[in-house]
Amino acid sequence: MVSSVIPVHTFDLVIFGATGDLAHRKIFPSLYRRLAVGQMPADARIIGAARSKMSRTEFRKSVSDALQKYIGAAKLDADVLDTFLACLDYVAIDAKGTGGWSVLGKKLDEREDAVRAFYLSVAPSLFSEIAQRLYDAGIATPSSRIVIEKPLGHDLASAQELNSALSRCFDEHQIYRIDHYLGKETVQNLMAIRFANALFEPLWNSRYVEHVQITVAETVGVNGRGAYYDASGAMRDMVQNHLMQLLCLTAMEPPSRFEPDAVRDEKLKIIRALDPLTLGDTVRGQYRAAGKEGSYLDHVGDPQSKTESFVAIRAHISNWRWSGTPFYLRTGKKLSGRLSEIVVTFRHPPHTIFPQVEQQKGNALIIRLQPDEGITMRVTIKDPGPGGMRLVEVPMDMTFADALGGHGDGMPEAYERLIMDVIRGDQTLFMRGDEVEAAWAWVDPIIQIWKDSGSRPLPYDPGSGGPIESYKLTGSDGHLWREITV
Ligand code: NAP
Repeated sequence: MVSSVIPVHTFDLVIFGATGDLAHRKIFPSLYRRLAVGQMPADARIIGAARSKMSRTEFRKSVSDALQKYIGAAKLDADVLDTFLACLDYVAIDAKGTGGWSVLGKKLDEREDAVRAFYLSVAPSLFSEIAQRLYDAGIATPSSRIVIEKPLGHDLASAQELNSALSRCFDEHQIYRIDHYLGKETVQNLMAIRFANALFEPLWNSRYVEHVQITVAETVGVNGRGAYYDASGAMRDMVQNHLMQLLCLTAMEPPSRFEPDAVRDEKLKIIRALDPLTLGDTVRGQYRAAGKEGSYLDHVGDPQSKTESFVAIRAHISNWRWSGTPFYLRTGKKLSGRLSEIVVTFRHPPHTIFPQVEQQKGNALIIRLQPDEGITMRVTIKDPGPGGMRLVEVPMDMTFADALGGHGDGMPEAYERLIMDVIRGDQTLFMRGDEVEAAWAWVDPIIQIWKDSGSRPLPYDPGSGGPIESYKLTGSDGHLWREITV
């Protein structure tokens, strides 16, 4: 099964921060791959912008080097690479200065029929300023698009400030807020599984779903990003955006149409239906030292830090569908595996006719975002062969990474899909401003409660599943976290 590729309209994509890590590691490789499969037109223009002074040739060389590094020289096609590099241009612009904007404007004015998009791959402190300068210089037209990525604020007040600064220059339908989790094939498949099949939706409620677990686990620590992370923590860095987006997609009502605002309205309703969190609904952790590896406190260089490198949450959604079904969220660094998954655990049958058989774990739908994107249904069947009625749990595997082909090393990167969606003008997989604000409005109070409590995050061993108290959180409800193993 090979997915069909529909070319997008030609475009001019300006990448602010084109010399940075995100651009080199994700954005250019994604665009290269879209060109290679025929989705990006060969006459598209990608205009890099950053403060560094460099010629177009030097810029092309830097992007070529990045592609060699992040895609791998053996996987690059010489003709596609030449075509790709020919699409690149560069303008030196300091987001805080006045130089360079008119040069950029002139380049863009050369073709008015191309889709115009600005990708702000720069520090968030520059988002508002760049938006304002694009607007003031007349470079941002009513149909052009602006793309930004987390962190989208630090709390509700700063998110509101950012939204209102952007809205002075761009209409909401022009603003694309990336959460790259939403670009993953499996996340969209979650919607397909739920809304394109009659099988699951009748069971998708508290009557049949016992609980839901959403885990985003990392094996790495905060090394290298200590200062940034310590000012943020797991709640702001991961829960407010990625985990809450996954929660929304799992729990939302079926939208009436698969259209951006219809989907985002339903997601927003879930966030607004979340009960406020209490101290007893959360467990915070900080990883300890192990061997020669320092602790979280060593890595951030502050022995007094109370920032959490792990958080587990028990969330309740107060609506007809979900009342009585806890949603457990968990994310952390230095855990026993690197994985992102949603596990929907169904209730046991109301009556068992196999009394001689030990209690089974029950049905579960496991939606895995990484690694090995795919969906597995855990079902109970008879253990084949003679020997009486023994039951066994087996996974029904719907892994589709191989089946879909993609670019030969798995499925298209989330960024590939998302950037093409920006060009197509499809906001379905992007967060709306009010969603971001509602998510902050849910996490802000518990962060304040933690602060007011004066308590410290609980220590946990690197390579573990987090503090033991997180197991007590689910255990007190009679539930067990799925092991973090990869
Ligand atoms: P980075 O490596 O530090 O790159 C920053 C880029 O911004 C550079 O190209 C830099 O080039 C440019 N820049 C800095 N100040 C500028 C100014 N005043 N005017 C114009 N350009 C300026 O950062 P990054 O890791 O790519 O991250 C970029 C953004 O993406 C950040 O908001 C980050 O939080 C977000 N993000 C990154 C990742 C990731 O994997 N890296 C993932 C998710 C989100 P010059 O120095 O030449 O100006």
